[in-house]
Amino acid sequence: MSTATLPDELSPAAREFAAGPHRLLIGGEPVAAADGATLTTVDPSTARPIAEFAHAGPADADAAVAAARAALDGDWGALTPAARGDLIHRLAEAVEANAAELAELESLDTGKPLKLARIVDVAKTAEHLRYYAGWPTKLTGEVIPVSQPGVHVYSRREPVGVCAQIIPWNFPLLMAAWKIAPALAAGATTVLKPAEQTPLTALRLGQLALEAGIPPGVVNVLTGDGATGAALVDHPGVAKIAFTGSTAVGREIGAAAGRSLKRVTLELGGKSANVILPDADLDTAVKGSFQGIYYNTGQACNAASRLFVAADRFDEVVSRLAESAGRARVGAGLAEGTQLGPLISAEQEERVRGYIDSGRRDGAELVAGGGTPEGAGDGYFVEPTLFTAAADDIAIAREEIFGPVLVASPFESLEEVAARANAGEYGLAAGVWTRDVGNAHRLAALLQAGNVYVNTWGPSDAAAPFGGVKASGIGREHGRPGLEAYLEDKTVWIAL
Ligand code: NAP
Ligand code: MG
Repeated sequence: MSTATLPDELSPAAREFAAGPHRLLIGGEPVAAADGATLTTVDPSTARPIAEFAHAGPADADAAVAAARAALDGDWGALTPAARGDLIHRLAEAVEANAAELAELESLDTGKPLKLARIVDVAKTAEHLRYYAGWPTKLTGEVIPVSQPGVHVYSRREPVGVCAQIIPWNFPLLMAAWKIAPALAAGATTVLKPAEQTPLTALRLGQLALEAGIPPGVVNVLTGDGATGAALVDHPGVAKIAFTGSTAVGREIGAAAGRSLKRVTLELGGKSANVILPDADLDTAVKGSFQGIYYNTGQACNAASRLFVAADRFDEVVSRLAESAGRARVGAGLAEGTQLGPLISAEQEERVRGYIDSGRRDGAELVAGGGTPEGAGDGYFVEPTLFTAAADDIAIAREEIFGPVLVASPFESLEEVAARANAGEYGLAAGVWTRDVGNAHRLAALLQAGNVYVNTWGPSDAAAPFGGVKASGIGREHGRPGLEAYLEDKTVWIAL
């Protein structure tokens, strides 16, 4: 494909990689799909094609799983823990050495502001790899004090096997790192399946893993669509599935894993409640709540998409948020000064507009946005949008929109707001803004969520477990729990 459609802002390195060709990465080799199929990735800021990439099918899933198995049984499985840790460190270094190019590729493929790609996606990717690089030498088993004489019983921590890791399009590189870092630390091998909208940085990361010295076949990258993911989920050679994406697909994967008894972790959707108590510092609460929803154009699983404000502060908070939304600079990811990029795809734009229409129909009051920003061109842009609504049971107040749409409601008491926040099906994140330390702790305990943020929204650290309760998922990523998901315990009995 010609590079003529690529934006002028791209550096030569990013331009060269983006132009392709983009093949699958199987056993360390770039290969076309067995049946020659391809898909096209699009720049969401312009709706123009970037490049074609290989569309993997079941034969490619077979080959990738076989390559991952061979690496596990071969070079990779034979490495010492220190050597494994060293290679993960080298991958972190390779990410940092290529940070500018990776950020450009991410901004191009997702439409997110270049600065965000650099300081969040790429920087956090390196951080995540470094954190897990420290773990291989610390995976100790236990000596178990059984109540039987003449035996020695201990446990070994062994890698779970070949993993299928399926990731979404909102933070493509970072989600790849969240998946591969703990798998590599545990000594497992992987087949990574990026989302069809955003194949570029996962492919580049796969190359960097090889350049860093990680043996061929340890990290395989299968680009493709949902059917590619399903072929991996169904593959008998896969021991564990790690998935981030929609709750609907998560349910299907969980059901399939139940039948095959594969290990599974699911990081799914959310409708996260953000609660501003009457005594909150409104400057920080408004700023944090604005970032909490509109960051990454609302395309974050832990977006602060449901706002509850103490009744006597409600009007002030809503008018300040509306004013900030009106001022926000919406534009192309690679353009200077962009705060909110486009949505990822025409499909996602249509979905978000559908929710905005449903909010109007259901009687919510539109106080900011709702339309198309000036100069949007063919890109998938939607204005940062704010509704107020008294009802909790309308679709925009209950369902995950995954776009720049906030729904605000007033509340009277702590107990009331906890009950309303907990009434939904999701439980990924929740937030509280207050100066009252007692109320902060009371709400942190009452809110049904895997993560609670007090006077902040959405901080993340590789050491701090992240995940959801209820329909927001199963299991945790980051920290020790994130690693445990890639390990099996073996109990060894020795008669003395
Ligand atoms: P999705 O369908 O759940 O996609 C997530 C990943 O799963 C992608 O790699 C996708 O591949 C793959 N996949 C799709 N169907 C599959 C199947 N049957 N078996 C195995 N893998 C499969 O999410 P989406 O359609 O892109 O987004 C829809 C909604 O999901 C969003 O509007 C949002 O509400 C939610 N979402 C949540 C998160 C999150 O971080 N929790 C992230 C993204 C989206 P393809 O993309 O190639 O089809
Ligand atoms: Mg794309």
